[in-house]
Amino acid sequence: AEVVGGGDKEVVREYFNNTGFQRWKKIYGDTEDVNRVQLDIRLGHSKTVESTLMMLKDEGSLEGVTVCDAGCGTGSLAIPLAKEGAIVSASDISAAMVAEAEKQAKEQLGSSEDSVSPAAAMPKFLVKDLESLDGKYDTVVCLDVLIHYPQNKADGMIAHLASLASNRLILSFAPKTFYYDLLKRIGELFPGPSKATRAYLHSEADVERALQKVGWKIRKRGLITTQFYFAKLVEAVPM
Ligand code: SAM
Repeated sequence: AEVVGGGDKEVVREYFNNTGFQRWKKIYGDTEDVNRVQLDIRLGHSKTVESTLMMLKDEGSLEGVTVCDAGCGTGSLAIPLAKEGAIVSASDISAAMVAEAEKQAKEQLGSSEDSVSPAAAMPKFLVKDLESLDGKYDTVVCLDVLIHYPQNKADGMIAHLASLASNRLILSFAPKTFYYDLLKRIGELFPGPSKATRAYLHSEADVERALQKVGWKIRKRGLITTQFYFAKLVEAVPM
């Protein structure tokens, strides 16, 4: 049933603290207990993270660059960014996700002499929805979060994220172009009750308009697709 009055966020928080946490931790992990679809989504998502890192490094070293990773999940991007020497603030609406990201960061970044990446500073982790983040960062990144919100909410989220960034904003979202195809595939693969929260797709034009309204323009675009995963990746800069 439709939730009235800003309920999307509460539903999303609840989902990512419970069943969604279990499901996505598995997909974003490296264990073998995933099915064919989950494995495909894991691959697609890892490509998004990889493309984001490439976009970020394109402009030069990340050493000392401040990055806000809004909706950090289990730390798939925050941890490699820290390894590149970035000063990372990673936050998520889900306390379970933040705890998992922190645990993985400790395992992967360590704090001792034998640390894999001696240059890496531990990201700063925070349980916070992106709408209430503040501060200013060289770069703000928000991957695969907008899918949980309709465009009318996404507009405000994009504007807020842009207000936190001095140089660039990187966003990924599920493009509307694939809507029917996606629905068809999901329908075929997941008959019966829905296994996830509602998914909202966004047209690139709508995202671009939301950015333009606050004085930002898209500088780079990428498209990541596997069989079951679709993401449009955009890098925006102030006009
Ligand atoms: N960005 C991560 C990545 O790409 O690995 C995680 C993507 S996961 C599909 C979506 C994440 O967004 C979840 O961890 C969820 O808790 C978080 N999220 C959803 N709505 C949010 C909001 N309003 N503010 C902050 N995080 C949110």
